[in-house]
Amino acid sequence: VNDRRESLYIVSGWAAKFFHQQMMETDEGKSIGLSYFKERGFRDDIIKKFELGYSPDVWDALTQQGIKEGYNIQFLEDTGLTIRKDNEKLYDRFRGRVMFPIHSFTGRVIGFGGRTLKTDKAVPKYVNSPESDIYHKSNVLYGLFFAKKSMRDEDNCYLVEGYADVLSVHQAGVENVVASSGTSLTIEQIRMIGRFTKNITILYDGDEAGIKASLRGLDMILEEGLNVKVVNFPDSHDPDSYVQKFGSAAFKTHIDQNKKDFILYKTGILLKDAGNDPIKRAGIIREVVESIAKIPDGIKASVFVRECSSLLQIEERVLISELNKIRLGKI
Ligand code: ATP
Ligand code: MN
Ligand code: MN
Ligand code: MN
Repeated sequence: VNDRRESLYIVSGWAAKFFHQQMMETDEGKSIGLSYFKERGFRDDIIKKFELGYSPDVWDALTQQGIKEGYNIQFLEDTGLTIRKDNEKLYDRFRGRVMFPIHSFTGRVIGFGGRTLKTDKAVPKYVNSPESDIYHKSNVLYGLFFAKKSMRDEDNCYLVEGYADVLSVHQAGVENVVASSGTSLTIEQIRMIGRFTKNITILYDGDEAGIKASLRGLDMILEEGLNVKVVNFPDSHDPDSYVQKFGSAAFKTHIDQNKKDFILYKTGILLKDAGNDPIKRAGIIREVVESIAKIPDGIKASVFVRECSSLLQIEERVLISELNKIRLGKI
């Protein structure tokens, strides 16, 4: 094994323990960090399992403790936990934030997300670890280590936007949930899910950004040959705010009753804008067919052509000829 990378894993694991201990055992940590998580409705078992923590609101608490315990400063810098200013002064990247350690799919800590407790809009809500030799954000799914068994058992993966969504959904007893946190979904992330299940259900935020991202994600998932469904949340709720407001049972019912395959989902969204305008409706047909054209499996694609045909009242042969035009255009 590569010694340098091993050192980065060790220092990251140590930092997660430091942040967790700061939250559980110090007055500042308990009154600010722990009470924040409690107020958001997170149970003790979830706080422990995901090793949630708190970074003290001073310049260099972690860096000083690391030096005291004999960790090589270079490794603290390489993970981005310590920042060196003007080539000399050292300070902590994460200060006065609640901490979400990010685990590799084998369960080692590789990076962190830190959420501010301030409501000041000028402060970024989340700060994440920078890219390092052990943390490549386009290859990471938050929660995968805790989700993978359930993803296999349930043969499905719920995909959410953020850290809190993973925690709340997991806490509701739905453990097959991961987040792309901090990046828009990547091909690598989809392939990683594909090692455990070929079925993805998108649960993005109900706001406009979430809906846009779901349409983009859906096409990428189809292109990778995986199956995709989408659930929308009302009133700009995200999965976390929905579960915490309405409870686990209502959340599960909402999913069961609102899960849509991509054709139904996409036409639903597009039809809302188009109304009865025939030109706009024709545009919808083209957009939906463009998604179908991304499906590599011809038999699967033909099933969706049939669904599209009955949903939009268009003859199948018209759709197939459009499909072929798009496919040929691709070459
Ligand atoms: P919370 O519920 O804690 O307010 P959220 O997860 O609902 O947060 P969103 O604004 O919906 O926050 O963003 C979704 C995810 O995108 C976050 O969990 C985080 O991983 C990432 N993110 C959000 N804002 C930032 C930011 N300023 N910098 C980096 N990543 C961010
Ligand atoms: Mn959002
Ligand atoms: Mn949220
Ligand atoms: Mn959100």
